Amino acid sequence: MIPAPVEYVRASTLEQAFEALADPDAKLLAGGQSLLSVMKLRVVRPSLLVDIGRLGLGGVEARDGEIGIGALTTWDELARAPELRRPALVAIGECAAEIGDLQVRNRGTLGGSLAHADPASDFPAVVLALGARIVVRSPDGERTLEASEFFLGPFTTALGPQELIMEVVVPTPSTGSGSAYSKVEHPASGFALAGAAAVVRPDGSSAVAVTGVGDKPFLLPDDVDPAAAPAEAEIFGDRFASAEFRRHLAGVVVKRALERARTRAEEDR
Ligand SMILES: Cc1cc2nc3c(=O)[nH]c(=O)nc-3n(C[C@H](O)[C@H](O)[C@H](O)COP(=O)(O)OP(=O)(O)OC[C@H]3O[C@@H](n4cnc5c(N)ncnc54)[C@H](O)[C@@H]3O)c2cc1C
Repeated sequence: MIPAPVEYVRASTLEQAFEALADPDAKLLAGGQSLLSVMKLRVVRPSLLVDIGRLGLGGVEARDGEIGIGALTTWDELARAPELRRPALVAIGECAAEIGDLQVRNRGTLGGSLAHADPASDFPAVVLALGARIVVRSPDGERTLEASEFFLGPFTTALGPQELIMEVVVPTPSTGSGSAYSKVEHPASGFALAGAAAVVRPDGSSAVAVTGVGDKPFLLPDDVDPAAAPAEAEIFGDRFASAEFRRHLAGVVVKRALERARTRAEEDR
């Protein structure tokens, strides 16, 4: 299908992007890997596309106690980033390397995926399990959201109308931690039928998040046996996989992610 006619502007500065976003029918364009699909289906019909590709918001930076990942960092860059090779952070690149195909990984960005909030997308589980923060900016200034308060429902986030994701900040886990991402993917698109990210800490405690099975990604509660927990969540079914099958897959990917994260934590001691 062909999208409806649309104006295009490339922002050279954040101020220009915000100015263009004053038009309520304007939409930010990052890698275009999700937006163009929904425009072709005419589910979304923006009057103006504001290309933020030249704002220099990409890259991974190791800082004191945290890792900053720019919103425009592509999946391919994440999969290759040397700063993310530690067992505690390796789930990031592991997840990114399994997203879509080569073209999607070369164009698609972390910020675009989080803002789009497709309930089948992979990376939300990783930011939840790692306890990441999402830094957003608007003409009114900057604010930081916990990943756990960012995803509100299918294709719905806590982002305001003129807010732009700037960066994802991941607290550097202590030595002796391990992480992993595991998914069972849709064979055509690569999206998660069920995906799980796990982080195991030096004291053996863990954080596990699941995506692809409900209307939004979710963290498993601390006090529940993680392997049994998907049974407690509300899980949906569709023509690709019934709710019962998805529930089963969720249990499988949680177990796999936890086992791999545990092994990696031991290797890091
Ligand atoms: C064939 C195919 C297979 C795919 N497979 C997978 C998969 O296996 N797993 C998976 O998770 N995803 C998959 N995707 C989606 C892919 O990961 C997209 O790259 C990602 O969802 C969106 O990133 P983008 O940079 O392309 O965003 P865009 O498409 O440019 O934008 C998406 C939305 O986010 C908004 N936006 C973009 N950047 C920002 C920002 N910095 N701040 C605020 N809002 C912003 C846009 O306005 C738009 O509403 C697939 C896509 C395709 C086409």
